[in-house]
Amino acid sequence: MRKPKERRDVRMTKTAVCICSGGIDSTVAATIAANEGYELHLVHASYGQRAEVREKEAVKKIARYLGLMENELKFVEIPFLTVLGTSALIDPWINVPLDVDVDLNEERETPQTWVPCRNLVLLAHASAYAEVIGAEAIFAGFNAEEARSYPDNGVEFVKRYNALLEEAVASFSRVPSVKAPLISLFKPEIIKKGYGAGAPLHSTYSCYLGDAAHCGSCESCLRRKRGFKEAGVEDPTVYH
Ligand SMILES: [Zn+2]
Repeated sequence: MRKPKERRDVRMTKTAVCICSGGIDSTVAATIAANEGYELHLVHASYGQRAEVREKEAVKKIARYLGLMENELKFVEIPFLTVLGTSALIDPWINVPLDVDVDLNEERETPQTWVPCRNLVLLAHASAYAEVIGAEAIFAGFNAEEARSYPDNGVEFVKRYNALLEEAVASFSRVPSVKAPLISLFKPEIIKKGYGAGAPLHSTYSCYLGDAAHCGSCESCLRRKRGFKEAGVEDPTVYH
């Protein structure tokens, strides 16, 4: 374990990197970081997902809304995940399951929409960026609802990744830590929190299919629809 006195603050500004897909969770996390006074940098990753173009459009709008400068939004290409395929989000031969709603009360097997170790890979990229710019925090939209299906969204994952970071960055760098302000929340609570925080929910994009309008039937759309309904917040989304 590195001693604190060996770390050097690269800058006095409170700086954070936020992994942002353009969806609701990461947008709310980014808004919370901005509201907490962090100088914010967004990172969006392309890994061959069907919705890549829509996500990028959404992230650009979100960055503008949060007052970021052009160089504070970074696009990362991770083509190896595209090569691996194996996910319905990437592989055109695997159908995205439609109209299969998820029972929030039950943990379930990892679904076909799982991208291998995606959040670990994304965090590794965000961590490298955080080290370079001297960011002290890496915000992510990990949450309890996604953790029911995807193992890389849980409290233990974040805790262990933060322990790893202590050993992973250069000795002259500030050691960043992952902050997941939504980790205990489900979608309706996230939407309520985002609405209260002034998050640009209207600019977010969630659909796995990547059409201009949300399909309204994939798992992500179903979560989105139900989230707005149960939150009692008007849903600004255009569905097919
Ligand atoms: Zn959809």
